[in-house]
Amino acid sequence: MFIWGYQTKTTDIPASANDYCERCGKVTAHSVRAEWEIAHLYVFLRSVRWERWFAKCSLCGTEHQLSPALAKAVRRMPKADPIPFWDRHGGEVLGLIVVAAIAWVTWA
Ligand SMILES: [Zn+2]
Repeated sequence: MFIWGYQTKTTDIPASANDYCERCGKVTAHSVRAEWEIAHLYVFLRSVRWERWFAKCSLCGTEHQLSPALAKAVRRMPKADPIPFWDRHGGEVLGLIVVAAIAWVTWA
């Protein structure tokens, strides 16, 4: 692993949803796939640069990108968010630790 870099990951979500397929012209079952890129400094400072969510029709295989609002709703379903906690919040946690350390040094 490099000191600083980017990493793209993709995974299928163990969830499905009914959605309208333009090619089939009807509501069909769709599987969901997530794709995201994280920026990392060593292994601990990590944050998500972007994420895209796709729904794939189970009948014809046509895939379309979910709107940000729908992707957010899917992400909140139980066990649907594939992005590990430290990949999503590592940078924020480290930022809080730094702020806490500065506050402690300043007021101690
Ligand atoms: Zn279809």
